[in-house]
Amino acid sequence: MDTQTQTGHIGVTTENIFPIIKKFLYSDHEIFVRELVSNAVDASQKLKTLASVGEFKGDLGDLTVRVSVDDKKKTLTISDRGVGMTSEEIEKYINQIAFSSANDFLDKYKKDANAIIGHFGLGFYSAFMASKKVEIITKSWKDDAPAMKWECDGSPEYTMFEVEKADRGTDIILHIDDENKEFLEKYKIESLLKKYCRFLPVSVAFGKKTEWKDGKSVETDEDNIINDTNPAWTRKPADMTNDDYIKFYKDLYPFSDDPLFWIHLNVDYPFNLTGILYFPKVRNGIDLQKNKIQLYSNQVYVTDSVEGIVPEFLTLLHGVMDSPDIPLNVSRSYLQSDGNVKKISTYITKKVADRLEEIFKNDRPQFEEKWDSLKIFVEYGIISDEKFYEKASKFVLIKDVENKFYTLDEYKTLIEANQTDKDKNLIYLYTTNKDEQYAYIAEAKDKAYDVLVMDGQLDIHFVNKLEQQLKDSRFVRVDSDVIDNLIKKGDSKEVKLTDDERNALVELFKSATPPIEKTDFIVGFEHLGEKGNPITITQNEFMRRMKEMAEMQGGMNFYGDMPLSYNMTVNLDSPLVKRVVDDKENSKDAIGQIVDLALLANGLLKGEALSKFVKRSLEMMPVN
Ligand code: ADP
Ligand code: MG
Repeated sequence: MDTQTQTGHIGVTTENIFPIIKKFLYSDHEIFVRELVSNAVDASQKLKTLASVGEFKGDLGDLTVRVSVDDKKKTLTISDRGVGMTSEEIEKYINQIAFSSANDFLDKYKKDANAIIGHFGLGFYSAFMASKKVEIITKSWKDDAPAMKWECDGSPEYTMFEVEKADRGTDIILHIDDENKEFLEKYKIESLLKKYCRFLPVSVAFGKKTEWKDGKSVETDEDNIINDTNPAWTRKPADMTNDDYIKFYKDLYPFSDDPLFWIHLNVDYPFNLTGILYFPKVRNGIDLQKNKIQLYSNQVYVTDSVEGIVPEFLTLLHGVMDSPDIPLNVSRSYLQSDGNVKKISTYITKKVADRLEEIFKNDRPQFEEKWDSLKIFVEYGIISDEKFYEKASKFVLIKDVENKFYTLDEYKTLIEANQTDKDKNLIYLYTTNKDEQYAYIAEAKDKAYDVLVMDGQLDIHFVNKLEQQLKDSRFVRVDSDVIDNLIKKGDSKEVKLTDDERNALVELFKSATPPIEKTDFIVGFEHLGEKGNPITITQNEFMRRMKEMAEMQGGMNFYGDMPLSYNMTVNLDSPLVKRVVDDKENSKDAIGQIVDLALLANGLLKGEALSKFVKRSLEMMPVN
């Protein structure tokens, strides 16, 4: 051992920081891999910078960072050929960890390893999460500085002395402890390197590439490079082709369809942000996944949960974001109040809206073609973000039963003349199911009304939002009332019935209605003309929407638990109705038949009631 051996106390005010590191940082153990490799990359880049400004005049040579596992010695080593450290630098950057009120802080952020590591620049010390001893062997790029070895076994004492080291740079040698043996497994380290280091800006090698020879896997001479040092988002948008963007997407999400569109983020003021956001193709609502965006800081992977950083509705996008300005190592609640994060979030929202508007303006056919997949993002944004609504209201599309697309303004122009009711409200008719509501759509078409299709997952909320935003406008489903009442043009013909007459009629039709579980019918009367259906079954718009929304939220609640309630409107002008009412005694079957047909038309006739209906119908058929 060298006579110059120095021992000392690591400058922490807490008596012993290492048990704390081990204990509290348990869940995020693997982070040390990221920290140590990125330190090695930093050191290499620093040397490149020194070379570029002419301070370092030597030969940079191969700067590949090398990670290796030694099974026998039970060590994991990270080696670089970067700037290295002089003994003064070890003293300054490794030995003096500036802790203030460390206890308080550790207590507060017990659960959040990232918080502690980042806050105190504990990057290097995270090595102790998995090691019983850590060695640093380092030689500075400065010609006259001797190589140094630093050693620490996890107590606050370290030793440091001069050694021989041929090459410039740093080896960090971790003696992995028994509880963390997994970090000696090659596949484990390789998967961690792929996760955290995949896009680091300096090559990282983990052993050699292997190939199959004579039925077994053998090592080749070629380094097994883990990372792409020049990922798509770091390149200039002008240098990127569509194929480049799609290829990068496929690298990130190997099993996905091609993306619809992408946005290349590239700002350096007032904050630094690069990245590529992709609109994924949505095959059906079920495969909508949040947390597909990966967040990087200077090409170091940080997380794939970006809530709080991008607006909620954009968490449905895919891609990468890279920003050294996002405080990565703090708790989520802090993140949400951070000024930079807010600015970034606003910026991204604007970028996304601008991009969509641009495609809409320049290539409407393409926009329409992809609308079915895009719709969910745009509607989500509209519902949840006022700023986004302001922009998106110009390009959000609505589709009618003829599969024609309209902007909100275009559609208003289309229906204004014919679908304004007597109270000057503009009535938007819609269907949630073209087949089930076919008859109602047909009646609307007879009146030359247009009917929108609102069958998306978010459409109820979207419709609510539009009603709040558009003045004097209402949305009603085609089957929510009889056609004359959907858009009231004038006063309808008054129904003249005494209370007794009305009660008797209600009773007559009610008693002819088969019981349906959890379903109520409210019988009412209208004059709907001789040609109108004898009975129309409709469902009040407000009640239906409340119930649907309650169901989407799940759990027990007032609207969710209410029975389904339908209006059964009897047309007093119908000759058929007149006949059965005039001859009640002999019309029992006929009334049952009329009611059943109305139920059948709405898919409400089932089970025993359906079977009775079929039987009765057959009996009513003339034999000859
Ligand atoms: P940070 O990276 O945030 O500065 P770390 O705890 O990870 O905090 O590292 C502390 C310091 O130790 C670094 O800033 C650097 O000066 C020095 N250091 C760590 N690893 C290396 C390395 N491989 N080569 C040269 N210097 C290093
Ligand atoms: Mg670091």
